[in-house]
Amino acid sequence: MEIEIASKSGFCFGVQRAVDIAFKLGCKYSKGVYTLGPIIHNPKVVEQLEKASVHMLNDIDNIKSGILIVRSHGLPPNIIDEAKKKGLKVVDATCPFVKKVQTYAISLKEKGYPVLLIGDKNHPEVIAIRGYVNDEIIICESVNDLNKLDIPPKLGVVAQTTQDYEKFKTIVTNLLDCVRELKVYNTICDSTVVRQQSALKLAKKVDLMFVIGGKNSANTNRLSNICSIVNPKTHLIESSEEIDEKWLDSISKIGITAGASTPKWIIDDVVERLKNISIN
Ligand code: SF4
Repeated sequence: MEIEIASKSGFCFGVQRAVDIAFKLGCKYSKGVYTLGPIIHNPKVVEQLEKASVHMLNDIDNIKSGILIVRSHGLPPNIIDEAKKKGLKVVDATCPFVKKVQTYAISLKEKGYPVLLIGDKNHPEVIAIRGYVNDEIIICESVNDLNKLDIPPKLGVVAQTTQDYEKFKTIVTNLLDCVRELKVYNTICDSTVVRQQSALKLAKKVDLMFVIGGKNSANTNRLSNICSIVNPKTHLIESSEEIDEKWLDSISKIGITAGASTPKWIIDDVVERLKNISIN
């Protein structure tokens, strides 16, 4: 059984940075270090951080004192202000590329452009961006939304960093028919694009594809969808334990990719399990 790993897969710069900050603070203070929601969308990494004294809570009311780490997707500014008012030390681990989307949205609004964000309305990154423009934003999840939305004649556009480029392009192209003035910032992160391209290339040439990552991770799910289109034998798994040996019957070439929030040790573990299955 041959195994090939996509040339670009696993932790991206922003996730690596956030996780490093969290582990460092957990080691240094050993208690009173918190994140609101998962620091990244990978339950295995969140589990490890918990062991390293970085605790995930969902409500700021439950944090009485200590340090609040702003996760890679960012947090709405009212939550950050509330944390500061409570006397918490706030450490910002927002990915700089996510920060850029927040900054563009603010600047478009200040310049008089109603802002349209291409993204998933319930994603934490989108929720944080909404907060930076006081909720004065139009969220477009798909090209079909354009018929239902009230699109003003002058518009500024940004995208959630992990959106699919083709979808972004289609929506922007369709917007040209609806507006008179359009200012567009392509804020899709390169790490996302290169991971999608390299996964697609690999999925086309293997018998079976594993996409490793959190099932709650938007970019991992998108990788899995992209691979499934060209390779129906695509499996999204969070860890090696989920591999069903029956999937590997009559398979000679396996491809592996991993979402931007998947650490190398989980990828190595999957490869190890596959090698063991192959030997036995
Ligand atoms: S995918 Fe891009 S925007 Fe998202 S955390 Fe990674 S580097 Fe930052």
